[in-house]
Formats: sequence, structure tokens, C-alpha cells
Amino acid sequence: MTIEKKIQLLREELNQHNYNYYVLDNATISDYDFDIKLKELEKLEEENPQFFDANSPTKRVGGGITKNFETIVHKNRMYSLDNSYSKEDLLDWEKRVQKNLGTEEIEYTCELKYDGASINLTYENGQFVRAVTRGDGFQGDEVTNNIRTIRSIPLTINSDFVSDFEMRGEIILPLDGFHKMNEERVANGEEEYRNPRNTASGSLKLQDSTEVAKRPLDCLLYQVVTTERKYKTHFESLEAARNVGFKVPQTIAFAKSIDEVFDFVNSWDIKRHDLPYETDGVVIKVNSLQQQEELGYTSKAPRWAIAYKFKAEQVSTVLNEITYQVGRTGAITPVANLEPVELAGTTVKRASLHNADQIEKLDIRLNDTVFVEKGGEIIPKIISVNLTKRPVDSKATVYATHCPECETELVRTEGDAKHYCPNEFGCAPQIAGRIQHYISRKAMDIDGLGGETVDLLRKEGLIKNYADLYELTAEQVIPLERMAEKSAQNMVAGIEKSKEIPFEKVLFALGIRFVGETVAKKLAKHFKSIDNLMIADFETLIGVDEIGDRIAQSILDFSNNLGNIELVNRLKSYGVQLQVSAESLENQTDILAGKVFVVSGVFHQMSRNELKKAIEDNGGKVSSSISKKTTYIIAGDNMGPSKLEKAQKLEIPILSEQDFIDMIN
Ligand code: AMP
Ligand code: ZN
Repeated sequence: MTIEKKIQLLREELNQHNYNYYVLDNATISDYDFDIKLKELEKLEEENPQFFDANSPTKRVGGGITKNFETIVHKNRMYSLDNSYSKEDLLDWEKRVQKNLGTEEIEYTCELKYDGASINLTYENGQFVRAVTRGDGFQGDEVTNNIRTIRSIPLTINSDFVSDFEMRGEIILPLDGFHKMNEERVANGEEEYRNPRNTASGSLKLQDSTEVAKRPLDCLLYQVVTTERKYKTHFESLEAARNVGFKVPQTIAFAKSIDEVFDFVNSWDIKRHDLPYETDGVVIKVNSLQQQEELGYTSKAPRWAIAYKFKAEQVSTVLNEITYQVGRTGAITPVANLEPVELAGTTVKRASLHNADQIEKLDIRLNDTVFVEKGGEIIPKIISVNLTKRPVDSKATVYATHCPECETELVRTEGDAKHYCPNEFGCAPQIAGRIQHYISRKAMDIDGLGGETVDLLRKEGLIKNYADLYELTAEQVIPLERMAEKSAQNMVAGIEKSKEIPFEKVLFALGIRFVGETVAKKLAKHFKSIDNLMIADFETLIGVDEIGDRIAQSILDFSNNLGNIELVNRLKSYGVQLQVSAESLENQTDILAGKVFVVSGVFHQMSRNELKKAIEDNGGKVSSSISKKTTYIIAGDNMGPSKLEKAQKLEIPILSEQDFIDMIN
């Protein structure tokens, strides 16, 4: 036998043992014998480096250090899930699905909702090549080296499966492993981890993959993403995935009606407490892949799936104090400081009270006994007050009248739920918050500058606002605590580089109240420059698609403020992009204004995302499902037969990729 062959056989054998042990939970070899074989392989690989393979079972122990995780755009967007909380919600969903599909015959797959961090695994030619976190759904962080250490994830697939695919799943930390990790931490005098989910997602971003390898992480798979039509149903595709080595939990079930879905939900509502990992609900999916395609997506979630959340656990505790937090836009959030209490595996000390209305609605008072619930969110909620335990001398809560940070009188405009501190330029958390927001990843994405440094720079009086960043020099920064020459230079270089960030992001970075990422994009596209935006009047602003009174008023307030005008002028003088670049203007037209497109199938000259971008750049809209409102369908190869049928029924013109390219040229 050649050395190469020997290495190959050992790898296959060890992969099989990993699979038996970590996926099937059925070891057929002792740990000792496994280690001997692994050592043998290690030695052979070391002596014969020409046969290196990043996916060898010897690479499970990690090794590489990742300083900065690369951002990768997802080939297929990672959507979130719509939630439901009752049987009625589920029945409503079923109705919507039936109506959309025009049939009552719908079958489902039921899965548990695994509570961890979502991950997208890419395989090429049967080899694991990449793992990317969900991020914002459009792009995430590449964490391949860390994911490779998770033993239950197959690194090579030899058997018959689809050839071009991605697997979606959840990285979880089973409860057992989580408790062991905490025991160890306590023994080392370290603070315990709060909960398995955060610890799992935190693990993915560890820089040292050998550290990740030591953590008992697992990966449960729930979706095969592919354009190949080898499998007809979601259930079938998951079973096939399990057969080729993926850990698809045995808890998944086929349901031929919504009644069977209810059976699944009911039984797991009880059995979930015995699972080796946490789950906060069930995910129900339309089983037919063709029907899934027909249903498509809303802007946030698939129409063909819904999560059902189990009723959250509740505890009661005492309200010790209400304090008030000031956000970057001056918004005040009241916070309930509670007598610490254990809830669903974590200690709860604080809960958000949202706003004055919420306090009034709950009629929550100092020293009240309250019911606290932990839903899917990390921050627990106060559900109600136990009036039978209210102290006799209790008085209704009076909401704060002045800012806890700068003592300015709070304001609350009609129709606004929140109180605000109007002292924009003199209130410390607002000043700090705006700078933090400005440098954040979705905004100016300034490398080499983090929250702590911003605080430090502010304390030293080097910056008072985000425009001041552009006047910082490395010489000023080097003498500061924990700042080395290199980091100071990186920081200044990062700030300099932010001058290339496109206008739509800068507009978001300015931190205008109610102007989030999407709104900023819309405004940038419509107004093309900050000057046009800042001279626009109320009527002009609300004339823009999806801009309402509240946003318009907030933009006016921003534009009429002398402090902001000065800041914007300074940014302009430093060369920050305050208008849409000539280059992107060139590619933008209005020729598709008012037209709604549905894109379906596989394309050759452009990727699906490029197509969508081209539609939007030319003023058109992209929709994910065919309706009477659809103007055109752009069809690539393998367009879904049901989509085709629907298009023909509604007599919607179908364009080829080339037709579309001709159209925009
Ligand atoms: P949410 O984060 O509430 O929007 O829910 C969506 C997330 O649920 C997805 O990103 C997945 O990470 C996670 N998830 C857990 N289990 C499943 C499952 N069985 N099917 C689909 N998504 C799941
Ligand atoms: Zn204030």
C-alpha cells in the first residue's frame, strides 16, 4: 500500500468513528484506540507534508489564530423566522399559506427550535470549505477554522448527495458541556458564563481555534440550501443530509396536517425539559420544496416557515428601584432594578420598562412584587404586578422629570412614547453614544477604534464629537494609557480610511433619530447629497417613498440645528462622502420606476444579488412572490414550475436575463 493510500484510509476510518460517536452517539471503538490511530495519522502527515489536507481529522484540534474575521456576503440570504405564540396564530398562518398556494393540501415538517447561533456551511466537491455566521442576514463573519473543530460537522462527504449546496444549522452548547465549563471556571476563580446560547455564539468568535476545539460545541442542521431538485420535500432532504453525515436531530417529524403539528408541539412542550440542549420552541415548515419556492419570503422571513414559541418561564421578585438610562439619541429608558432571581438558567437583576406608558400600564411601584418572564430575548420582561403583595403605603410611580446625567428637563412630544433629554451637545451619554454609533460596523466601520478608546479619548478631552476624530494625530494618542505607537497609527489610518465610506452609510452614521440603515439608503438614493437633504422641507420629505411624518420631522430638527450644520460642514471639509459618488450615480437611473420584479431561477451573466441590485439601482422594486402587482418576472434556468404556472395565469410577462440587460441598457 502506498503512503498516500494509507493516509487516505486512516482519514476515512477516523471520519467514520467521529460520525459514529458524535452524530450517531454510538461509538464502535475505544477512546484509546481512536487516539492511537489519530497519532499514527498525525505522524504520517507530518512526515509527508505533500498530502496536506485542511479537512483531515487531525485538524479538529484547531491551531490557527484569527485576528480579524473576514466579512463574507451570503450567497443566499439568511432570513429570520416569524414567531407565533398560540394555536390560533398557527391556524392563521396555515390559512395564509393555503390562500397563497391556492390549496388546502399542505404537509409540514416539525423541528425543534435549537437555541444557539446560526451558521452557514459551504461545501464544494464534497469538501467543507467555509463557515459563515448569520451576521445581519446579508453578510456574516467567516469562522471556518473555528467551525472545523466541531467534531459532529463532517469535513468531507463521499456519498451521493446534491453536488452544490450549503447547510444551515445552529451551533449549540449542550447543557452538560455548559455546566462542566462553568464548574471549571468556578474552580479557577473565574466568573460563570451566563447561558449556553451566548457562550456558543461567543465561542465562534474566539481568535484561537484550539480554544474553540476545547469547548463541547455541537452543530444541529436544519436546512439544505441548493438549486438542485434532487429532493421533493424538506423532510426528505434532511433525512438525506443525515445519511451523508450531518447531524440532523432525530426529533424532526413529518406532519401531514396542522393537527399533527399540534401533537408535536404539545408533546415537546413537556419533553423539552429532558433534552440535552435548550430549545425555546418549534419551527414548522411547509414540507414541499416546490410549495416553499412558490411562497417565497417577506422582507424578513420565509412565508413557508413559522416558529412557535413555548410559553416562557416566569418567576416573581421585588422591584428595588427604577433608574433611567440615556441613549445616544437622548431617548430615556426606564430600567427596573430587581432583587436578583434565577430564571431559565440565568440570574436576572434588571428589566427594561420601555417608557412612561408602560410604567403606567403596569402601575408598577417601588417595592412591588412583580412577575418576570424570559421570552426569546436576552432582556427579561416584567409581565405584571402581584397586587396582593403591594405594601399598604405604596405610592404611584412618578416618572423622572430631569435627565439623570445632565439634569436638563426632559421633553416628550405628542405621539412619542419616549421622553428625551434635549441637551444633545452637553449630555455625556448622548455625546459618547453618537460617536460610538458613528464608528460602528454598520456605520463608518472604523478599524482600530473601539468603544473603550472612544471613552478614553473623550476623557482626555481629545474629542467631543465625531468630527473631532478627523483631527486626531498619532502623536496625541500615543501617550494615552494602553496605547502603543502601532495601535495609534492603526487608529488614525482607520479614521482616514472612513473617508471612503459611501454616502448612504455616512448618513446612517450621523445618528439622526429614526434614520436607520434602510431609511438612510432611501434618503441617499432620493436626495443624492446631504445638502439636498438638509434644505428639503417637510412636504418634500414626506413625498419620499416610505418616509413618514415622524422621520421627516426628525430630519428637519437635525437640519435646523446649528451644531449639526457645523458638524456636517466640518465632515465635508475633511473629505467624508456627503454625496453619492459620481461612479454610483452613473449606474443609477429611474427607467424602472414603478415596476415590480420577481427574480426566479439560476442566472449566468449576473448573480441573483447583482440582478436585484441592478433593478433597485434603476429605480425598480424587487419582490419575492408573484402577485397581481408584479410587472415582470426575470426567469433564469430551473424556474419553479409553480411560479411559471402562476405567472401564466396572471399573464405576467417573463423576461430572460438578456432581455433584462437590454432593458436597462
Ligand atoms: P430568530 O432568530 O428568532 O429570527 O429565528 C431564526 C433563527 O432560528 C434562525 O436564524 C436559526 O438560527 C434558528 N433556528 C433554530 N432552529 C431552527 C430550525 N429548526 N429551523 C430553522 N431555524 C432554526
Ligand atoms: Zn441629559
